Order: sequence, then C-alpha cells, then structure tokens
Amino acid sequence: KQEQYRKLKSQPAVTRDGVPIVLQINAGLLVDLPNLEATAAAGIGLFRTELQFMVAEHMPTTSEQQALYTAVLDQAQGRPVTFRTLDIGGDKVLPYMERVEEENPALGWRAIRIGLDKPRLLRAQIRALLRAGSGRDMKIMLPMIATVDEFLRARTIVDREQAMLAKQGHVPPLSLQLGVMVEVPSLLFELPEIVREADFLSIGTNDLMQFLFAADRENKRVADRFDPLGVGALRALRSIVEAAADANCPVTVCGEMGGKPLETLALIGLGYRAFSMSAASIGPVKAMLRALDVGKLTERIDWMLASGEGAASLRPQLAAFAAEF
Ligand code: PEP
Ligand code: MG
Repeated sequence: KQEQYRKLKSQPAVTRDGVPIVLQINAGLLVDLPNLEATAAAGIGLFRTELQFMVAEHMPTTSEQQALYTAVLDQAQGRPVTFRTLDIGGDKVLPYMERVEEENPALGWRAIRIGLDKPRLLRAQIRALLRAGSGRDMKIMLPMIATVDEFLRARTIVDREQAMLAKQGHVPPLSLQLGVMVEVPSLLFELPEIVREADFLSIGTNDLMQFLFAADRENKRVADRFDPLGVGALRALRSIVEAAADANCPVTVCGEMGGKPLETLALIGLGYRAFSMSAASIGPVKAMLRALDVGKLTERIDWMLASGEGAASLRPQLAAFAAEF
C-alpha cells in the first residue's frame, strides 16, 4: 500500500470521470512543512497557529509569531497557506495564561470568543500575519464563529490593522482573503449571509459534528454513537456546500472527516471539491478518488438522501457503492 501511495504522488488528484479535487494538508509547526513536498499536496488548508503557543513557555511575541508565519510561507514556496487564528481555550490551555474554570470548556470561552473579548491578542496576531504576508497572497480564517455578527466584528479588527500597517508604510499582502470556519451549527441558519460576507468557508467537521449531535468529540462513550454519514449530518453538510455554490464562495473541508476515504467519497457526492487533511491521509484519499465516478456517485447519494429517511447511517450503502469500482 505504501508503495502504491508513493507512486500516486506524481499522479493528479482527478476522479476517473475527470473531476479535479483539491487536496491540501493540515499543519501547525515548521516540522510539518516537509509534508507538502512528500505528499505533493496543493497547499496547507489549515495551519493551526495555536500549536506555537502551546509548545512555548511564554506568550509568543508578535515578532516571534511573524517569524514563524514568514518561515511557513517561505517553505511553502508559493503554495497557498490558510492560517487559522488562535483556537485556544476549551481543552487547549496555555500554561502561562490565566486559567478560567468552566463547567463546559468546549462550549466556553475559546477561540474567536477570546479574540473578540481581548482584542489585543487577536490584533497582535493579525499584525504578525499581515506583516508575514507582505507582498504575498494571504489567507486567514477564524475559528468557532457562531454568528455573522462575530465575523463582521473580526473583519473590522483586520481592516483596522491593515489600515494601521499601511499608514506605517508596510507593504500590504498582494491579496487578503478572510474566511470562516463552519463548526458551530448556528451558522447553518445564517448561510445566505455568511457566504456573502466571508471570502471562503472551511468546514471543521470535528467540532461541527460534536455540536450538531451534542456529543463530546473526546468522549468515547458518545463520540462514536452518531455517524457523520447519517442522513441528518449529510443534509447539514449538503446545505453548506449548496449555499456556498450559490454565492460562488469557495469551500474546503478541513476536519478529520475529509481524510477518511469513505467519508471523503460521501462529501464529494454532496458537491465538495476541496479538502485539507493530515498528510498521512493524502495517499488513501487520492487512491479512492482516482477510481471514482462522480457522476454516478452524485446520483446515488441524491437517491440515498431522498430515500434514506430515518437511517442512522448510510455507511453500509456507501461502502457497497465504493466496492463496485
Ligand atoms: C475541526 O473542528 O474540525 C477542526 C478542523 O479544528 P480543530 O480540530 O482544530 O478543532
Ligand atoms: Mg475546531
């Protein structure tokens, strides 16, 4: 198998019936960068910036942050990198930061919520990102956005930092795209607005499924109780990709779901065409999709979703379809 995946490296990520699929990798530290070359991935679809904060002994300064982002962009050699702003809080605690005791950390003060309440931290990070992106294409995305209003408030902060840097004579990024992680279900009820406001969407299926089913992603007792290949979850995922297509808003799946071949197959059937996953998943997913007939799959999934009422999981049907080719 490893040998087979190695051979696939030089093959394009295109389905048997000619549909191109974008495969990117998730990363968080400089040591992950060689994976770009090793997998021939199209870029980094999710760079988890909190990793630098989690391994550090003190709060990384703005210039330390900038140095990392610059090194990442340098080593990516022109391939796109999507930086996610700090996703701390919840279970990701920083040893040097004051700890807040919370009954339900996953539902608590985390990610963009901290960013908006303590804008100094978010502003410093945005500044570091914009400086590192000087003269290059820059993509930034925001974690745990629950409402369009939160996105607009974050955008105001980004705009203000950009204006300030311009005033100081810094060369701005060539282009700046500000995207949103779709991982809190409330956003599914503001899709028409969020696809208009955001420059792109990235689906964080780990958190989205956790919150959709109200099942802690770390709690084995309940985490496997609900299948993301159930009718409810697939309909939710389809509503996102349809809203994005209507508004011409690019959308990527960056949660673990996108790195499992059968799950990725289902997502392609729903209309997704771009994925970001752990480097080790690229080979298996590429092998799957190169054998795939998207035309047939789309028809089959539409039928399964229409006729699958009440099905806790379409996994057996999807596996049967996958076994046909
Ligand atoms: C997700 O929630 O799916 C995601 C990609 O982010 P993280 O796993 O870092 O929460
Ligand atoms: Mg998440």
